[in-house]
Amino acid sequence: MKILVVDDSKAMRMIVKRTIRKAGFTGHTFIEAGNGAEAYRMITGDDTEKHPDLVMSDWNMPRMTGIDLAERLQREEVVVPFGFVTSEGTKEMRERAKNAGALFLIAKPFTVGAFEEALTPLIPTLESETEGEGENPAPTEG
Ligand SMILES: [Mg+2]
Repeated sequence: MKILVVDDSKAMRMIVKRTIRKAGFTGHTFIEAGNGAEAYRMITGDDTEKHPDLVMSDWNMPRMTGIDLAERLQREEVVVPFGFVTSEGTKEMRERAKNAGALFLIAKPFTVGAFEEALTPLIPTLESETEGEGENPAPTEG
């Protein structure tokens, strides 16, 4: 699948991509945007080749923030799985993200485990491991 990583820091985009792979999700295609406005154009643009299957976005960015992007997509009924990877995740941020339809908010420190937990329901793994370790959380809402 095609994963859009949105962050104004190129180094951070690289860390996010690396952590996704370390969490076991390999073989996927990454595309990148440096802010919400750029991401919005990729998500909704005429070039459907660039339409992502999953968006992982920073919160604070110039031009258009991640939450502004999420809220705009929601307002315009653009359906794409969307989650945040941010340096901080306050209660207010988590609430606002959830209201904007975000499926997860991963805050620093970014651990492989946090990525694994957030992405397992969303990304198919090429090799499924069968080692039974720990419980199998079934997130339910509402
Ligand atoms: Mg930022």
